[in-house]
Amino acid sequence: DNFYVGIDLGGTKMLAAIVTGDGAIIAKEEIPTLAEQGQEAVLDRLGSLIERLLAAVPGGRSGLHGIGVATAGTLDTANGVVTLAANLGWRDVAVSAVLADRFGCAVRLENDATAAAVGEWLAGAGQGAPDCIFVTISTGIGGGIISGGRLVAGVNHNAGELGHITIDGNGPLCPCGNVGCLELYASGTAIGRRGAEHVRRAAEGAVPQDGALVRLAGGDPNRVDARLVAAAAAEGDAGASGILREAGRALGIGLVSILHLLNPQVVVLGGGASHIGEPLLGPMREIIEQRCLPAIRGPVQFVASALGSSAGAVGAALMMSRSTN
Ligand code: BGC
Ligand code: ZN
Repeated sequence: DNFYVGIDLGGTKMLAAIVTGDGAIIAKEEIPTLAEQGQEAVLDRLGSLIERLLAAVPGGRSGLHGIGVATAGTLDTANGVVTLAANLGWRDVAVSAVLADRFGCAVRLENDATAAAVGEWLAGAGQGAPDCIFVTISTGIGGGIISGGRLVAGVNHNAGELGHITIDGNGPLCPCGNVGCLELYASGTAIGRRGAEHVRRAAEGAVPQDGALVRLAGGDPNRVDARLVAAAAAEGDAGASGILREAGRALGIGLVSILHLLNPQVVVLGGGASHIGEPLLGPMREIIEQRCLPAIRGPVQFVASALGSSAGAVGAALMMSRSTN
């Protein structure tokens, strides 16, 4: 039978899956990216990972009909080149050519969140919704837009960079060059950074030192990430809850603009930090209730990602399977 390999190549982990044309996962495995080893080593271990998965499925290499790769950052999708990926430390890396040479099949490169949007729309939480937005809250914030039953790709496949929507025109500088971008306030990285500041200020005596966040971090700001902030909030730490509330409000502010622009029916929320749940999403919904036009707010359903960390890989494989070139 025909199948496709889908890859989600991230700064910390890479996930490979063998996926059918319907989006079902036959096999998958996740390994650390170890980006510090350099692009050749990473691509070599990615190739070995794909070989290992292929060896485990009936048909092996002969069933492989293409590889879809999802990754964050700026891409030249037409040529299969990662032009700039800050999380990998890559500039102009010809990912598609390397994999096409090794496996002798077509390779398609896509933005991680765009691919995840397609995965959720065709085989996950957005199934059957012609107007569906996907938002991933992870290291950064990314997105993908399905409108009128079609993916909105944009002229060079960079549409849906929802994390770089301005929510404060006088805000701090984002690595993208803009200021006050949504992901500076509401990504997992942003939540972790605020949590680390809190622990630092506690060490300086500026905020109470007996809270759960300081205790869980062992007083060390470097140990704080979004997960730890969420754990502290769950133990009733007011500082940690405040950080999540502010991040949730920022997310709401960004989403109000996105909803007004696109009038979707379904908003799929994915990415590691989306699992924080109500402490983050409650304040988000509150802002939307208060500020979104009722006619636009009314039909919107917020749903959790169904494919989780596999969404990007499944979507990349499905986009490969449907590509005409
Ligand atoms: C990048 C997007 C990516 C998102 C999630 C953002 O910083 O600009 O391309 O989809 O992070 O990884
Ligand atoms: Zn930005």
